[in-house]
Amino acid sequence: VSITIAIDGHSSTGKSTLAKRLASSLSYLYVDTGAMYRCATLCALNAQLLTDLNHLDSDAIAEAVRNCEIGFVRGENGSNRATLNGVDVEDEIRTMGVSSKVSYVSAIPAVRANLVEQQQKMGQAGGVVMDGRDIGTVVFPNAELKIFMTARSEVRAQRRYEELLAKGEEVSFAEVAENLQERDVIDSNREVGPLVAADDARLLDNSDITLDEQFKIALSWAHIEI
Ligand code: C5P
Repeated sequence: VSITIAIDGHSSTGKSTLAKRLASSLSYLYVDTGAMYRCATLCALNAQLLTDLNHLDSDAIAEAVRNCEIGFVRGENGSNRATLNGVDVEDEIRTMGVSSKVSYVSAIPAVRANLVEQQQKMGQAGGVVMDGRDIGTVVFPNAELKIFMTARSEVRAQRRYEELLAKGEEVSFAEVAENLQERDVIDSNREVGPLVAADDARLLDNSDITLDEQFKIALSWAHIEI
């Protein structure tokens, strides 16, 4: 049997690392919904629609996103790479330029409705691990396993900081910590699809445990033996 695994949580809590591990071990499809919101943001940026974050034209942004094609291709090492209109934008969507704006775009209800519909189609056959903020609550409320990941804020900021440094991005630790904090506040307080644990989600704090340990815990919750 192929089940649906929903992994939600705050920014940089290691959702995608665990999701990828599960998907590759189970030969499931992996969908990084954060990458889709990041692509939508890049799409709006390219259309010059994010020049003033305090006065966004939600209708124009939603329309621009509807006219963008968001997808994934397989990278050299077997990882997924996000594409926008057929162009590989995986590196670009991880920059601070996108990170600092994505929560504003993802708070627009019509953008969410569009991406949620695409995500539901991608996962409709089951055998999928999807990570994001609203997977267990909105996208797949009937997922067989829902995990809500948490980690101490300094652990999260340190991880993301190291990731960005490794990519050669010039950022300060303070800037990264501030961005995570800002996104969490906006993501948690939006009207549609706010970041909140589903009632039936299992809580997983990975501040002090290894990926192997997380993986084993998730498999036991899924009642899967491999
Ligand atoms: O997962 P990641 O940190 O890449 O997500 C980037 C942003 O995309 C989040 O801060 C949030 O604003 C948005 N997002 C969302 N719903 C999801 C996944 C991501 O609103 N399911």
